[in-house]
Amino acid sequence: MRTTASLLLLAGALPAQMTSRLLPVAPGADIPITTIQGASAGPTLALVAGIHGYEYTPVLALQRLRRTLTPGGLAGTVILVHVANMPSFLRRTVYYGPDDGKNLNRVFPGRPEGTLSERIAHAITREVIERADYLIDLHCGDGNESLRPYSYWMRTGKPDLDERSRRLALAFGLDHIVVDDERPTDPAQSVYCSNTAATRGKPAITVESGGLGLIEEDAVARLEQGVLRVLRHLKMTRAAVADQPVAPVWIVRNSVLRSDATGLFYPAVRKDQDVPQDALIGRVTDFFGNTLREVRAPFAGRILYVIATPPISAGEPLAMIGAPGPMPSPRTDPRR
Ligand SMILES: [Zn+2]
Repeated sequence: MRTTASLLLLAGALPAQMTSRLLPVAPGADIPITTIQGASAGPTLALVAGIHGYEYTPVLALQRLRRTLTPGGLAGTVILVHVANMPSFLRRTVYYGPDDGKNLNRVFPGRPEGTLSERIAHAITREVIERADYLIDLHCGDGNESLRPYSYWMRTGKPDLDERSRRLALAFGLDHIVVDDERPTDPAQSVYCSNTAATRGKPAITVESGGLGLIEEDAVARLEQGVLRVLRHLKMTRAAVADQPVAPVWIVRNSVLRSDATGLFYPAVRKDQDVPQDALIGRVTDFFGNTLREVRAPFAGRILYVIATPPISAGEPLAMIGAPGPMPSPRTDPRR
């Protein structure tokens, strides 16, 4: 005898529902996930927030989306990872997990028997990324980073995948898109969350809006609206959402400037500022105030983010600078 549910499935309808649960990883690190299954068939979109636990705008955007997305109005499935890195979130750490000192967004696809960050990455890879057709990894400037909004478009050298990812970035609608040719291509060493999807053949983008641990309405709304535009682009909703305001600026060259010394950082630029080549980006001093380094722009460009709090350790970022250029082709990959 067939159940009502299977009859509905046979008729092409799905049991629309929303379920929230904790994905088990370890005590204190279980991951809150909501799955919204729509009333009709469609793709699965995964949204990941809180890979970095001091990045609050993505976490708040997903709290809102859980309230605004209704199963009845959805085709396909949305998976919301509300707080990927619970140890970092609850213990308020920047960049690194408090238990193992590892950056969760550098250990993908993770290991089931690894350190806590590696186990979190493994759970997200297996239970979220491998079940999804598309992925958006949502970030903002970390607790120490003053950031202007932008997204990353990864070019993998696979034209179809790259074009579908490019359309995701355009649909999301942030006004700056960084063309990223630097991600590894080995699925077993994917390193980054979004690249774990890309190396498994799934279109994926990373988006950034907000920073410095601040709760800013416009930064949260920008992420929420971007997700709604992607859902419309993928024909998963018909919800009314404003179009993205402008054609994007393509950042075709970028550099993350890192400190080679430990001490205090004094920035000399603001986010979104345009600087000429060799402009002073900031100074690193020792703990007595003596200047150790002056950091200068390697090329003319726009400050995408800059560290805005004093502590700096050797090897850590000071700022990211990007240079605009013409819209690049998905078929042009300088690496191959
Ligand atoms: Zn981040």
